[in-house]
Amino acid sequence: QITQTKDFNSHLNEAQLQAVESINGATLVIAGAGSGKTRTIVYRLAHLLNSGVSPSNILLLTFTRKASHEMLQRATKLLNETTSNIIYPENDLSASENNNYYYHKENSPHTSLINLQGGTFHSFAFSVLRQYYPSGYATPPNILDSSDSSGIIHDCKDNLKIAKGEKSFPKSQTVLSLFSKARNKELSLDEVIKRELYHLLPYSDDLEQLYQAYKSFKRQHAVMDYDDLLFELERLFTERPDLLTSYQNRFQYIMVDEYQDTNLVQCRLVRLLAGEKGNIMAVGDDAQSIYAFRGANVKNILAFTEHFPQAKIIKLEENYRSTQSILNLCNSVLDHAVESYKKHLFTKRENKQKPQVIRPFSDLTQAKLVASRIVELMGRYEPNEIAVLFRSGYHSYHLELELNKRGVRFRKYGGIRYIEAQHIKDVMSYARLLVNPLDFNAFQRVTSLSKGIGPKTCLKLYNAMQNHDDQEVSKICKKAPTLAADLKIIEKLRISNPSPSYIIDELTEHYKPYLTSNFPDDHPRRLQGLEELGHIAATYTELDLFIADLCLEDPFNSNQQEDTEKITLSTIHSAKGLEWSAVLIIDLAEDRFPSKKSLLKIEDFEEERRLMYVACTRAKDELYLFSPLSLYDRATGGTNQVQPSPFIKELKTELYEEWQENYIGGLTQKSAGVNQTQTYKPERLSQTKWNSEYDIDPTITITPANNPPIPSTVEQNTNTTQAKDPRSLGLCTH
Ligand code: ATP
Ligand code: MG
Repeated sequence: QITQTKDFNSHLNEAQLQAVESINGATLVIAGAGSGKTRTIVYRLAHLLNSGVSPSNILLLTFTRKASHEMLQRATKLLNETTSNIIYPENDLSASENNNYYYHKENSPHTSLINLQGGTFHSFAFSVLRQYYPSGYATPPNILDSSDSSGIIHDCKDNLKIAKGEKSFPKSQTVLSLFSKARNKELSLDEVIKRELYHLLPYSDDLEQLYQAYKSFKRQHAVMDYDDLLFELERLFTERPDLLTSYQNRFQYIMVDEYQDTNLVQCRLVRLLAGEKGNIMAVGDDAQSIYAFRGANVKNILAFTEHFPQAKIIKLEENYRSTQSILNLCNSVLDHAVESYKKHLFTKRENKQKPQVIRPFSDLTQAKLVASRIVELMGRYEPNEIAVLFRSGYHSYHLELELNKRGVRFRKYGGIRYIEAQHIKDVMSYARLLVNPLDFNAFQRVTSLSKGIGPKTCLKLYNAMQNHDDQEVSKICKKAPTLAADLKIIEKLRISNPSPSYIIDELTEHYKPYLTSNFPDDHPRRLQGLEELGHIAATYTELDLFIADLCLEDPFNSNQQEDTEKITLSTIHSAKGLEWSAVLIIDLAEDRFPSKKSLLKIEDFEEERRLMYVACTRAKDELYLFSPLSLYDRATGGTNQVQPSPFIKELKTELYEEWQENYIGGLTQKSAGVNQTQTYKPERLSQTKWNSEYDIDPTITITPANNPPIPSTVEQNTNTTQAKDPRSLGLCTH
């Protein structure tokens, strides 16, 4: 029984409605930020379901699982609001194939939506590969995170005796990103080196040898890195056309958000899955492409009509998110782009206030000013309508301290992930061995916990175990009683195969003695983290899915119920697609944003510009751009003067109000000849006052805001602080 949805006419404009209603064949929606692309997908989802399409026939590919989750919830809500009842065929109500990612069984007529497959390309790939894997693997693969991968590269290099003792040989992390770049851009190592990493040229042969060794190691130990997931899925579909056909039959409708950030292999996967029918809708914005560094290829959008010749192209013009004064600033960011994006965002939304450029004395006083502004904003908005955005995860360090001091609660996206903490990785290594005994990294990690087990013994034990040489195993275990206990608990849990949360709780209990001895200072806090891990595990029924999700998503964040009491701190990359009433962008100083590395190549610099565009277009009502005049230098304990980010310099002054920090802990307006002093609430003042040791030369002059743009300034960025390794700031969770 299918009831008609009330029409969506009043919810959508004409172009959006057209996209929602074209459900046969290929459709590309290409449009600027905030023009309702994601909203169109949500409504199309609702429309499909309402037309009787079974949720299991829909594949929704998004940038994060959280995004697809939210889209699904919105579609569900819409249907529940607009229809009385929809009943799907009986078989849809059973969760098929264990690969649904939705656990919210709300009491709604649309419970059956749990059957809809949605998430990232990577998690989709894993959901297939855990069941069917291509030739060359002995068991379903475990997923490596980047620290595992660089560990493997390090070991392979040692084993092959490559560049022994040569100090200039690149670090494993650099080698890994070279490998990843080559794969994602689908170029040979040599080509990437010649194009952009010229200094590695002397090592070309060594790197090639290492590449091959890394590849065969992964096969042999049944592990895959992030990139493998996509390529191996493609290989699987090539090896198994029957499987591809069954997936093509299953996914009658494919929708892809943020299409501008797909890479070549993702694009091919979409085409494979869409097959002859080509029932696909992709939405994207070329001006928001910010993953070229990972091989994303904006040409995928531009080539859509070649890939799907019958494709309908729909453009959305109107912005519904931001006020016009915010959009004026956003447009201006793109005006200076080398490539022209024929886009001019407009809105009917009323103007509230101009964006503000705020110039704190340093990044330290910036933290205080930002915190004060947030407190003030919290008087006007719910905390979850406020976000602070930054270029790199570690940029929020001082702000986090300041917010903690003031009791402002926040959640943080991007940057160093909780699961990379040593204790979490330790416990997860046991779990990984339960799923895949061949996983050498996990094995290494577990054995390294026991005293007296070095790399040689570890390898000996690993081989003995793979060859079922019980005598050798017990000989080694005799020397290390804790190791024997480790192997025992793994074996016990493998045989009894309990629920993921039971496994994590047991392993945590088992790990406690290591925890107290290895982390004498902060084991109680780490124990809490492990307990939280157990809670998250409780939302899963399959251990391998839980493990994969920890690598591919950040369940510590995405499983959190939306807490309206918390503000958001996020890297710009993780803020893609989202929106807040008030957005504060910090550290708009040279070398911080754009990042120092990006100044070497114009394409990289332009990518930073699009990142700036993404950041500014997140704001609905209020936008604040913080551009500190100096940056704290941890090495000397002093501050170094910095130029404002070129993205600030090139903005026309009439687009924003300009405020400068003054010596009483407030702000003085600089523009339009006004000399107004704004001080924050007096009770905050004592906390807002900066420590005199951070003070900088009061004679410092403020650069006029309308300086000429980049090229001339790009070369000048030499005399400032180095971008710091997060670990040097004590941020590292290891
Ligand atoms: P981005 O490029 O940043 O991902 P987007 O194009 O996906 O943006 P949405 O997030 O879908 O844009 O929409 C931006 C905001 O505008 C949302 O709050 C959405 O609900 C609202 N919106 C979009 N279209 C309409 C409409 N026709 N009527 C009212 N509000 C709309
Ligand atoms: Mg969107």
